[in-house]
Amino acid sequence: MIIGVVGAGQLGAMLALSGYPLGQDFIFLDRSAATPAGRFAPVLTGEFTDPALLRQLAERSDVLSFDWENVSVEALREATRGKRVRIAPPLRALSTAQDRLAEKRTFNRLGIATTRYAPVETRSRLDAAVARIGLPGVLKTRRLGYDGKGQYVLRSPSDCDRAWQGLGGAALIYEEFVPFDYEVSIIGVRARSGEIRIYPLNRNQHAGGILHLTLAPWHAPALLRAARTSLRRVLEAFNYVGVLTIEFFVHRGRLVANEMAPRVHNSGHWTIEGAITSQFENHVRAIAGLPLGDTAARGHAAMINLIGRMPPRSALLADAGLHLHDYGKEPRHGRKLGHCTIVETSARRRDLRARRLLHRLYPHL
Ligand code: AMP
Repeated sequence: MIIGVVGAGQLGAMLALSGYPLGQDFIFLDRSAATPAGRFAPVLTGEFTDPALLRQLAERSDVLSFDWENVSVEALREATRGKRVRIAPPLRALSTAQDRLAEKRTFNRLGIATTRYAPVETRSRLDAAVARIGLPGVLKTRRLGYDGKGQYVLRSPSDCDRAWQGLGGAALIYEEFVPFDYEVSIIGVRARSGEIRIYPLNRNQHAGGILHLTLAPWHAPALLRAARTSLRRVLEAFNYVGVLTIEFFVHRGRLVANEMAPRVHNSGHWTIEGAITSQFENHVRAIAGLPLGDTAARGHAAMINLIGRMPPRSALLADAGLHLHDYGKEPRHGRKLGHCTIVETSARRRDLRARRLLHRLYPHL
């Protein structure tokens, strides 16, 4: 089977690497072939919305998927109209995840708790939202935000002008600030048959809006149960096929859903070495119509992102149990260039080792 993927970043690269052993082939579309997945598979190069390129991708693929959210749903729908190619995950899930307002409304409709929020279209609506929801709060663009980009924390009424200057003009959402204890995510996969498998809970640590560390499995049985229920509801509501992630804040022992990603997710990279079947392989299995693999953990994993600058490879690999993934990207401030994973025999050993490694890589954190 040929799997076409819009976006040829590291997620696409890891999809291809997990799909080849299963006999699947890949073709990508991206702005450049000098992208992580371009090292392993052909890339059609051009704009993501280019109708001719998307049509070509659709014609050459049996199933179409995407490795990031900000692809045009309309362009994808148009390019695949009347063709035998299937799209997975479903475009309805993609378009919901592209809009923070639609996403939160979907969560609430499915009985999944979120923070309080209000859409903001004008400056006076911002004042009204702040008056209703209170301070502190977070003003975010409804679309195209990632890794904390396109958002401002508002702590006093005088912050409104600054935030409006930064973001005004785009469709926005104002959210109540959640003074969370920590953040978690849940990742699961649904097959065409309706079968669902869910990974253990991930505990995630962000800095500057970017994920730095994931610990998994994170032992919190009540949270895991609640997260699994939420994930199942979303997977079933969309008649979903493929891997889906939901990110939550943990506040006073309860989950508050923040966002969903209709794709494999950075907080699931540990599954490559730390689970029986990786999230990447399970995404491939689901969209190719194959049986799903076991999502159980093999041990206690920690994943650390390598951001902005690649540490010397030999220094990392001198740690014999460490698995390095170098995406082959040009260094740039705040850019995810790779990640490393360790798998330990107990959560205590894992936490100790992860803390030491994190401190070595990011002494300022
Ligand atoms: P997001 O782009 O929504 O994933 O936000 C990036 C990060 O900003 C999150 O992982 C949180 O650490 C923080 N954040 C976003 N929204 C809120 C909120 N309503 N309350 C507190 N922190 C938030």
